[in-house]
Amino acid sequence: MQKTELNKLVRKNILFLEPYSSARDEFSGADGVFLDANENPFGEFNRYPDPHQKLLKQRLSEVKSFPAEQIFVGNGSDEVIDLVFRIFCNPGEDKALIFTPTYGMYEVSAAINEVELIKVPLTSSFQLDFETLENYLDDEKLKLIFICSPNNPTGNSIQHIETVLQKFHGIVVVDEAYIDFSNTLSLLSQIAEYPNLLVMQTFSKAWGLAAARVGLAYGDKQVISFLNKIKPPYNVSGPNQSAALNALDDFSGFQQRKAIILQQKSWLENQLASVAVVLKVYPSESNFLLVEMTDAIAVYNALVEQKVITRNRHSLVKNCIRITVGSPEENRKLLEALVRMSDV
Ligand SMILES: *Cc1c(COP(=O)(O)O)cnc(C)c1O
Repeated sequence: MQKTELNKLVRKNILFLEPYSSARDEFSGADGVFLDANENPFGEFNRYPDPHQKLLKQRLSEVKSFPAEQIFVGNGSDEVIDLVFRIFCNPGEDKALIFTPTYGMYEVSAAINEVELIKVPLTSSFQLDFETLENYLDDEKLKLIFICSPNNPTGNSIQHIETVLQKFHGIVVVDEAYIDFSNTLSLLSQIAEYPNLLVMQTFSKAWGLAAARVGLAYGDKQVISFLNKIKPPYNVSGPNQSAALNALDDFSGFQQRKAIILQQKSWLENQLASVAVVLKVYPSESNFLLVEMTDAIAVYNALVEQKVITRNRHSLVKNCIRITVGSPEENRKLLEALVRMSDV
């Protein structure tokens, strides 16, 4: 593919789509008697929310020092993933590429949208395998590459993403769901240079709002405008927009909770190292640990019996389970359960 030309990359039906114009689009003033959207005049949640999430984008723009018109707000990152497939990939025709093991939703979304998914295994140190990647970069049907960094479930940051941005002229989606826990810099600052870069972040992890379903995408103005064009008009509810705004207003609370999680992660890493059933704790730039066990399935099941639920990732990384860093009390319970197991 030549240098990224967005109008050629995007599906024709999306390029020529006439988007839905909501009542709030056609009149956006705040004052007046609103009889335009068939809302109920009574109640607390009776009005439709701002379809463009203006206040939230404005605050994010300040916090991130990034232009508001280049921010998209989705109903979780999972909505963004689906929308990206729908903008760029013709079903039954185009392809996407992921580096495995990684987050499962890219594959599910590809399947839902009938998009062939190329899986390139990460190297033994969970980094990009450029030699294998080279085989695919000139495929005209390859429209999307997903890179999760820090990666789920391996926990490490991915290096040399810029090389992919330079070599591939389709869209590169970098999923930074765990970036707030990482020492590696976000790729946000690279968007000005690479119009084919879309960076996803979320309120679900470090911001503590998984229930609220607020996901973010930062990108070139044109890519963001396509996301806005095809999203359901009221994709982020009013209460959820407020929840995100309130979280942003409590930045010191955010930092305090994040510090506790990071401190607990170090504590867990240290403690796990001396547990008998633990073979290896992988380094992590996220709020979870990938841990190699003597027998992942047995350990997972024994933990469940003690009412400690982890994620068995044996099918992705041999004999590994993924453990989320919890509260100090939760982490102590995990450790007690593991130590008890070692006694057997
Ligand atoms: C948890 C997670 C998300 C968050 O998805 P939301 O839909 O925003 O809750 C996104 N990407 C990865 C890799 C994750 O692990």
